Amino acid sequence: MALIVQKYGGTSVGNIDRIRNVAKRITRYYDQGNSLVVVLSAMSGVTDRLIDMASQITKEPNKREMDVLLATGEQTTVSLMAITLTSMGYPAESMLGYQVCVRTSGAYGRARILDIGKDRLQQLLDQKKIVIVAGFQGEDQGGNITTLGRGGSDTSAVAIAAGLNADVCEIFTDVDGVYTADPNVCKKARKIDRISYDEMLNMSSLGAKVLQIRSVEFAKKYQVPVHVRSSFNEEQGTMVVNEEKDMERVVVSSVTHNKNEARITLSRVPDVPGVAAKVLRAMANAGIIVDMIIQNTRKGNMTDITFTVSKTDYEKALEIESKVGEEIGAELVAGDSNISKVSVIGVGMRSHSGVASTMFDALAKENINIMMISTSEIRISCVIEEKYTELAVRTLHNVFDLDKE
Ligand code: ADP
Ligand code: ASP
Ligand code: MG
Repeated sequence: MALIVQKYGGTSVGNIDRIRNVAKRITRYYDQGNSLVVVLSAMSGVTDRLIDMASQITKEPNKREMDVLLATGEQTTVSLMAITLTSMGYPAESMLGYQVCVRTSGAYGRARILDIGKDRLQQLLDQKKIVIVAGFQGEDQGGNITTLGRGGSDTSAVAIAAGLNADVCEIFTDVDGVYTADPNVCKKARKIDRISYDEMLNMSSLGAKVLQIRSVEFAKKYQVPVHVRSSFNEEQGTMVVNEEKDMERVVVSSVTHNKNEARITLSRVPDVPGVAAKVLRAMANAGIIVDMIIQNTRKGNMTDITFTVSKTDYEKALEIESKVGEEIGAELVAGDSNISKVSVIGVGMRSHSGVASTMFDALAKENINIMMISTSEIRISCVIEEKYTELAVRTLHNVFDLDKE
């Protein structure tokens, strides 16, 4: 008998048949005597459709109302699941974020979970109820509905598992686990049996959307064992756990990509103190997150500053920087949203040299131009033209020997 938190993603609850199948899986666990909290996403495509509807009304919909709107996707699936389970004779009850007291910051669209009220959940579990919780949503201090950013149901699930001190948090999705690269892009990608929180943090932050990064942060902080697995079979998936001595010590353990990137360049800006600060302060003030930053070497008294933002922030960022560019006397402010970032990750990189040159050589052989580079102790990322993303991922997967069994 265990306390298990399960999360089912959008594809897994994408239609009524799939909801029925998930319900059957849930009842199997329940019949074995386990206590179950089940976190659900909206049906796949629903969140996108809701965003699209609002954008048909206005380019900048009211942020508070957007969260009220987006939270409806998850409200639909939890009620349908509870209807399914109760019709099968099981004691299920659906709960929205505010009902289980998922307290968050007030940042609409990207709120952070501050606290989970355990009492109500525990009460329902004590009554032997199967609790079906709407993922992705919470409530701020003012009682407003908030959402946690795309992919946020993963974080709801891990945070609830941490709050309840659950034995495991199972993330059921449409792939068999965490792979050495996105299995939908690289057919030769291999499933990883066990991965450390740190490597998973890197993978998530660099585009592997199989787990939202904040869910991995929670898992690491509160030591929640996370099991990523398929909702379409019974296979063991990937355990995300503390780093273990016998974990594979290959130099590069995965390749990730992120197409949600765009680049902005301010050309020929005066090379004087305070300019970079002004350019980036403008992004911070607008709540836009900047990823890579490059400042070129000085030519005369001028320099170029290039940085990347997410594609969703691109137009707004370009508009703001065009104004900043005028103020600071930039010759040109231009952008490019047809880019992507490919990265190689591996803790083994700490003690190996030559990874960067192998990566750059491999991309060069495929005639893929590198626009920007950034590195850390355990990863190297390159910005390239978006159309070469898949080719780059497969090439790097091969050159770092990840194709091999
Ligand atoms: P869910 O709706 O279940 O939350 P997501 O679409 O958010 O599912 O995440 C699962 C997807 O993550 C997979 O379909 C896969 O395309 C993608 N993905 C990207 N990188 C990886 C990786 N390294 N391993 C597994 N899946 C990955
Ligand atoms: N429905 C939300 C999204 O599409 C949250 C999630 O699926 O985790 O981003
Ligand atoms: Mg997801």
